Amino acid sequence: MAELFGLIDRLAVGERLSHGELVSLIDERTPETAAYLAEKAVSVRKAIYGNTVYIRGLIEVSNICKNDCLYCGIRAGNPHCDRYRLTEEDILSACAEGYELGFRTFVLQGGEDGHFTDGRLTSLLRAIKAAHPDCAVTLSLGERSRESYEKLFAAGADRYLLRHETATKSHYERLHPVNLSFDNRMNCLKALREIGYQVGCGFMVGSPYQTTADIARDLAFIADFKPDMCGIGPFIPHKDTVFADFTAGTVELTCYLLSIIRLIHPPVLLPATTALGTIHPEGRELGILSGANVVMPNLSPPSVRKKYMLYNDKVSDGAESAQSKDELVRRMTAIGYEVVTARGDVKSCNSTNSHKGGSI
Ligand code: SAM
Repeated sequence: MAELFGLIDRLAVGERLSHGELVSLIDERTPETAAYLAEKAVSVRKAIYGNTVYIRGLIEVSNICKNDCLYCGIRAGNPHCDRYRLTEEDILSACAEGYELGFRTFVLQGGEDGHFTDGRLTSLLRAIKAAHPDCAVTLSLGERSRESYEKLFAAGADRYLLRHETATKSHYERLHPVNLSFDNRMNCLKALREIGYQVGCGFMVGSPYQTTADIARDLAFIADFKPDMCGIGPFIPHKDTVFADFTAGTVELTCYLLSIIRLIHPPVLLPATTALGTIHPEGRELGILSGANVVMPNLSPPSVRKKYMLYNDKVSDGAESAQSKDELVRRMTAIGYEVVTARGDVKSCNSTNSHKGGSI
């Protein structure tokens, strides 16, 4: 165990660990190493972001999806999913409400719904930017062509979240149908970076068939790619998917990995995700106390929130709801953090200055 403290010290001074060292750091963890790791991660996070927590208003624009990802509740093959799609008017009024509540980033997330053509999205982006020029817009709409990403960027999109899901090709193939390819996912991330977006990758913790070696490869990928954002949350089964009977990932391992990611890439914007808030009533707080610095409350119209059911019992009320921002503020204040009204862009420091050279 003494050796693990040494590995954590090396991570904290910016050294890169080998694959075997990352595997040991995960497999041999104890409550003591987790506490030490979290302490280092929080101190690195505070040096860059202080005690501020950035908030993003998450607007779930559609649960219609052409893909059949094996883990996902809104997969095309789920006949029990009650489908919906927001109109441009719905989305603009959610942004207006979010602005009043103090949100300065809107995240438009959804399934791969063919209705959202480049034409419709560029007109929507221009309208959001005209109404709220001081806000950032993040898109999370899955895989599109490079030309499409270019048009959306030119129309005002600032950031793009596209979880890589797993950095191990054979594992990717066990989580997805044959028409979805690991190489295309990676190429999309590369294109987004080249176009100039702030780019987010990420993965599920405890996804079916995931091994510690897979997680170590995810961490190595993050060290190479140096994403501006990284979304990790526990896998949670959904009753209408082939993975219905698989076990969920844990809060404990998710928090441990949040701390490692903070040390591997200090400036990363790291959310304490909804999935973390779903499997534990204080998941958001535990994530922040492990080194996360972002939360993304739900700003979708209340009538559709229960329909964007990616996994069983996904939470969308209480501190998960944008309208309950006061509760979120109270909860963050109680653990010594401050929710701020800001776009919350990634801060550059020495390690981000080199990110343009990051490889995939
Ligand atoms: N369609 C877009 C995409 O593929 O990036 C965005 C929407 S997708 C539903 C957003 C994320 O939800 C996925 O990247 C995945 O990691 C996560 N997700 C889906 N099903 C999940 C599950 N059962 N448990 C935890 N996270 C899940």
